[in-house]
Amino acid sequence: MKRLKTILLICLLAALGTLALLPAGGCTVSIPPDTDWATRTSAATQPAGGDELQALLTAYGEALVKKDRARFASLLDPGSPDFTRQQLQLFDRMKDVPFAQYRIALVSHTEPQPGTAIAKVSVAWTLAGSFSGLPEPDRTAFTLVRRQDGWKLAGDATQQALGKQRNVALWDQGPVAVLSGGHIMALYHPGQEATARQLVSEGDAAWPRLTQALPGTSLPLIPVLIFDSKAQIDQAFPGKWQEWTGGAARMLGPAPDQGGEIIVDSALYRQTNTASPGYNGKMIGHEMTHVVLFPEQATVTPPFLVEGLADFVGGEKQTAMLRQKLAAGERLSPGLDELCQPSAFQALLSTEAADLAYEEADTAVIYLEQTYGNGRTLDLLREFKRREHDHTDQKQLVDEVFRSVLGTGFSDFENRWTRFVLSGNA
Ligand SMILES: [Zn+2]
Repeated sequence: MKRLKTILLICLLAALGTLALLPAGGCTVSIPPDTDWATRTSAATQPAGGDELQALLTAYGEALVKKDRARFASLLDPGSPDFTRQQLQLFDRMKDVPFAQYRIALVSHTEPQPGTAIAKVSVAWTLAGSFSGLPEPDRTAFTLVRRQDGWKLAGDATQQALGKQRNVALWDQGPVAVLSGGHIMALYHPGQEATARQLVSEGDAAWPRLTQALPGTSLPLIPVLIFDSKAQIDQAFPGKWQEWTGGAARMLGPAPDQGGEIIVDSALYRQTNTASPGYNGKMIGHEMTHVVLFPEQATVTPPFLVEGLADFVGGEKQTAMLRQKLAAGERLSPGLDELCQPSAFQALLSTEAADLAYEEADTAVIYLEQTYGNGRTLDLLREFKRREHDHTDQKQLVDEVFRSVLGTGFSDFENRWTRFVLSGNA
């Protein structure tokens, strides 16, 4: 979150990557699952033994869920000491992570020589107390060897199978500690405990405002992944974020039970505590709102409603530039009508345009909530979602939805909103 040009780069990248997963714009980030393998396999040429390999992979996931180190160690090849050491270190770093499920599914396998297999797998996990649906999986690959007592994991074959290293997770970068409040679950490296504590209390503080604007919201704990630095985030999501602005929400899949997570750069977060006291609390409220809204969004949702609502919950409201332009009779660029286009926030190419767009979004949602009642923005979002497949011209759709939910067409709404901003009530 932040009205900086940098966030637009993030949004732009997100939009290019995964429109399907991220229906409306905003400062959210979506990382697509890896979809291509470096080498192809056909089902017809699969060697036998897939069931045994899957049983081993299932046992690996179960050992991680049950924190059964002895069982976990028994699945590793004693003839591959480096890999075994690395896996046990990983196990220890994950020992406090409350996995509800850790699913490794065999996608395909080859047996380049008898007794050695390369298994392509998909990996996904859920956290106890958090979203119950498995997210879109990551892909990785293992080398396995057959020993007297069955197949054993003997190496990481991701580079070979995928053409690149597997995605780096928080636990690849060090031990992971977990701290849960009433609404978020912070996962962090022990050095970032102060950030985790502050985030958990800020998340709890944001909740009453969130349920006021989003009545009826009930959500499991939202995972917040706290990285030490921008460099660690770049490792975990290579090439996805050129710039980093403190916090971003990421959709974990299109189904409501897959939910989303929030990613935080602790170094920047700590700097922001000093540079802009209070901003971090707004940021977490803003990003939590994005996670709540993921299932409410559609391809036709005007993004100003989403960004404005996220800022409304966060408590962010800047109006100076907007009021000045309106008072001077300047044409707004972009105007609120342009911010109804689904990709409007990705198309903003200057810091000033972005600042203005957020000021419009913020004041429009404040106007909506104050004039039409708490929760009315959510009613609009739901009506857009309901009409997602109408194939109506966007401008006409916006007018019809506003008319049906508020009893006011869009241009009338725009005029009233302008007067509201000029009156200084925003
Ligand atoms: Zn946002």
